[in-house]
Amino acid sequence: MVGVSQFEYQITRTKRVGGSTTIRIHPEKGVIVRAPFWVPIPMIRKFVEDKSTWILKHLSKVKPEIIPKKFLEGEEHLFFGQPYPLVFNPLPNVERTSVDLKDGAIHINVYQGHLEDENRQEIKDSLLRWYLETGISTITEKVNYFSGKIGVSYTRIDIKKVSSIWGSCSPGNRLCFNRKLIMAPHEVVDYVVIHEVCHLVHRNHSSRFWGLVAGLDPRYKEHRRWLYRNHGLLSI
Ligand SMILES: [Zn+2]
Repeated sequence: MVGVSQFEYQITRTKRVGGSTTIRIHPEKGVIVRAPFWVPIPMIRKFVEDKSTWILKHLSKVKPEIIPKKFLEGEEHLFFGQPYPLVFNPLPNVERTSVDLKDGAIHINVYQGHLEDENRQEIKDSLLRWYLETGISTITEKVNYFSGKIGVSYTRIDIKKVSSIWGSCSPGNRLCFNRKLIMAPHEVVDYVVIHEVCHLVHRNHSSRFWGLVAGLDPRYKEHRRWLYRNHGLLSI
């Protein structure tokens, strides 16, 4: 599987025969891996993978912390990059909770009894359901648009709770996206969609792959950097 990792890294080569592979977290450039010239790329990848817990821990120190959501009225939640406050419309009877995005707010029509629940379970569940339903249709539209542009087809799209990747493209042409993307700005989601759709053509990160990505998203480096710097803001 090829995917967009939760962090990107640059590899720099050293000319020395001896010495080991090292990882450094640079506040601006991000993760930099230094490796002697002879170390093969798969070995470097494995090394980075083995250190991913350490890397993520250190990256979180240079990035904003995730503030846990309380699901209270007025609290802002991101939807494709825009913050919207939650507005509760209490219903006198137990009905299916519904969620509506209108007038610059996320309206939740919910039985008033559920509002008294300190765990906010019904609100959390219905908001998540709404995010996933609207999110998958928006992401599907994006996939259809970009795959149509380069004339490729996929078998299915899944939106999942995954911790280490933003998107993936499996050998059976199934595309999978991290559900947190529903909170990211459209142009950033477009980049991840483009990245995976381009893997339907090139199943690697070769220069031809990046050339295809750049053709569809000339500002892809900026969008990739946004994910690296801001993924802490996305918490579905
Ligand atoms: Zn990739």
